[in-house]
This record gives sequence, structure tokens and C-alpha cells, in this order.
Amino acid sequence: MAECTHLDQVRVTELPQAIAGCEECLKTGDRWVHLRMCLTCGKIGCCDSSPNRHARQHAGDDGHELARSAEPGEDWAYCFADDVFLQVA
Ligand SMILES: [Zn+2]
Ligand SMILES: [Zn+2]
Ligand SMILES: [Zn+2]
Repeated sequence: MAECTHLDQVRVTELPQAIAGCEECLKTGDRWVHLRMCLTCGKIGCCDSSPNRHARQHAGDDGHELARSAEPGEDWAYCFADDVFLQVA
């Protein structure tokens, strides 16, 4: 069974009250499909179904491997490094 070794990176689990969209896509005027929030710094990025995959890019650039879904009613998280799904506590 796959395990995540990055749980000590988690700093932020609560979603902000209002989410405008993927921070990087908003800068460039691009579109996204679903949103993810980095559990280390709270950055909002777009999912792997989105053209720019900013959540995954952020994990690679900053080493913040864990992100949660920022979609309403979804409370799962995902580790990009370990390719495992987790439940946000
Ligand atoms: Zn991990
Ligand atoms: Zn994006
Ligand atoms: Zn981050």
C-alpha cells in the first residue's frame, strides 16, 4: 500500500472563504477545469485536467507535494510525489 511521507509539509488545510480561481491562470488569462489548494502555502492551482496543470507545476517548482481539492464538497488531498490520495483531516 502506497504511503505519503510528506505529511510534515502540511500547514494549511482550510479552504479560503472565496477563491477567485487558479492564481497563475488568472495572471495569464488561461482557463482551468478544477482547482487544487497547496497544503503547505495555500496557493490555488489548477488540476491535471487543466491545460496548464499549475498545481502539479507548483509541486515541482516549490517542493510542496501535497494539495487538496478546492472543489465544493470535496475533501480529498493528493501527493504528487507519492501518487497517493489522502483524506483531509
Ligand atoms: Zn507524499
Ligand atoms: Zn492554472
Ligand atoms: Zn505551496
